[in-house]
Amino acid sequence: MVSLSWRTKRKGYWLFKEGKVKKDIETDKRIYFLVYGDKEHSVIFDKTKGKFTCDCEYFSLKLSDCSHIYAVKLFLGVENERD
Ligand SMILES: [Zn+2]
Repeated sequence: MVSLSWRTKRKGYWLFKEGKVKKDIETDKRIYFLVYGDKEHSVIFDKTKGKFTCDCEYFSLKLSDCSHIYAVKLFLGVENERD
């Protein structure tokens, strides 16, 4: 797994702290989140696979966690804030 850069983490932490993460819809298999960064992004957590996806360019290019996904993880308490 690719570790996140400090920039991505800092941005994700800021998004979380500023209350930019909103839980949208939860279904049996997925949880949908909205993250209001520079643009609005949709982060989807696939419960069956245990994976996060995001609709932003960073994620589609790098296929690693973007700041939005990191923010959602903080929101869910998956990541330790000081990590
Ligand atoms: Zn993203």
